[in-house]
Amino acid sequence: MSSTHESEHRVVDVDVDVDVVVIGAGLSGLSAADRLASMGYSVIILEGRDRVGGRVLTGEIAGVPVDFGGTWVSPKHTAVRELAGRFGCTITPQFHDGRNTLWISGRRRTYKGTIPPVSPLAVVNMARVQMALEKLVGTIDMDSPSASPNASELDSITFGYWLGQQRASSATRMLMNVISRVQWGASCDDVSMLSVLSYIRGAGGVDHMLDVENGMQQDRITETTQEIAKRVAAQFDDGRLLLSTPARRIVQDDAGVTVHSDTVSVTARYAVITAATMHRKDIEFEPALSEQAKSLSNLWRLGGLSKAYVAYDKPFWREQGISGEAISDKGAVFITFDVGSKDGPGVLLGFCDPVQFDGFDAEHRRKRVIEQMVEMYGPQANHPIDYVDHSWLLEDFGAGGPNPALPPFALTAYESELLKPHGRIEWGGTETAGEFAGSMNGAVLTGQRAAERVAERIRKETQR
Ligand SMILES: Cc1cc2nc3c(=O)[nH]c(=O)nc-3n(C[C@H](O)[C@H](O)[C@H](O)COP(=O)(O)OP(=O)(O)OC[C@H]3O[C@@H](n4cnc5c(N)ncnc54)[C@H](O)[C@@H]3O)c2cc1C
Repeated sequence: MSSTHESEHRVVDVDVDVDVVVIGAGLSGLSAADRLASMGYSVIILEGRDRVGGRVLTGEIAGVPVDFGGTWVSPKHTAVRELAGRFGCTITPQFHDGRNTLWISGRRRTYKGTIPPVSPLAVVNMARVQMALEKLVGTIDMDSPSASPNASELDSITFGYWLGQQRASSATRMLMNVISRVQWGASCDDVSMLSVLSYIRGAGGVDHMLDVENGMQQDRITETTQEIAKRVAAQFDDGRLLLSTPARRIVQDDAGVTVHSDTVSVTARYAVITAATMHRKDIEFEPALSEQAKSLSNLWRLGGLSKAYVAYDKPFWREQGISGEAISDKGAVFITFDVGSKDGPGVLLGFCDPVQFDGFDAEHRRKRVIEQMVEMYGPQANHPIDYVDHSWLLEDFGAGGPNPALPPFALTAYESELLKPHGRIEWGGTETAGEFAGSMNGAVLTGQRAAERVAERIRKETQR
């Protein structure tokens, strides 16, 4: 590797003979680099943030590490489990013993199991709407949602509009809105029905998406999910991973690609881009992306979700037979979980609506979250020992998450651009996963697949 310094522009031409330059050091990019390196290809990774992990990030509360981003893995998430295990990370089951809490219409109620204590009519309504949803999910072509029956029609309406068509009760709508805000970081009225169905199809169905036992909330990574990324990344600490190095411009010809950042230019035979779809457009491409590919990036915008953690000297709710799982129709916190360990302090996680949360100062956010915890868990919740929060829309680089909130028509019009190579550029990132799209498992799989595609192209080129 040779380098030349141009002090005026502070550009370093890293004149490398690498096979592949990987853009993004989230779970997808790191999995791509890991797979390529294991096959003997030379790689360099450029990451715009000053850390690895992307949408997985470790915070700390009362001395306990917590996940600000991606958290849970299901038993079906074998790719991320395998990666975590390979790098010595372990699994902690999600605590969910006891009665759940529902705060609705100004009243607190607790209940056992998955059916909330609403009127019998409302329970029937929920069951009917969920059945209709499951039925439609079953019609979706996971690899190409646009090829599903009635795809155009389903992509022309929002999830909220469909709920109206189904005569969803206010309680059903409230629960569906919680799902929508957790999964896509947007309300039911902002996401296309087809995109909702295709996500649920990829997630393994409604029950798998919502359940703790045998579902997507079954387990956490004890060491945190960002720790997986950090451990995978450590093998590239020898100069092959460049942090705070956003790819700004990618120029390519028949021989290879050159990726320019503010301080570094890297030349490689191929590039793998794992930035979230909406961040593809922040890179200038030469030759340019097609108009359709640009629109994909413009319209597949990440939603927003924030998390608040409150710690107590002990998980007092457990002693009262309360699980720490609560749903609320009021205030910034709309769902909570108990993410404390057996012997540590009690830790409640609250998912927060960024609209009602992000714009307030730290003290105000803390006060509002604790007030809601008191409403849901009683006066003992008024005595926390620590508090932290994180807003994904406020990240300096690569903002947004958890997943793209697709407006009507964005899926059927632009899905074809998701994976279509742009010359010597292959795409990764969880959005491209099909099955498991939007999860950490999807991220790992797409990185590995992009690596295989590039490796195949290099092999073919070398044989010529
Ligand atoms: C609040 C929240 C909760 C979640 N909960 C769960 C959960 O419980 N379970 C689960 O499975 N998933 C969850 N997810 C989703 C999961 O975290 C993501 O699906 C996964 O981490 C995405 O990985 P990725 O590598 O595809 O993308 P990212 O993690 O977004 O990585 C892309 C990387 O590319 C970098 N980048 C972007 N543009 C450039 C550029 N121009 N140059 C260089 N680098 C660039 C970014 O900085 C980023 O590091 C959650 C996400 C959030 C935000």
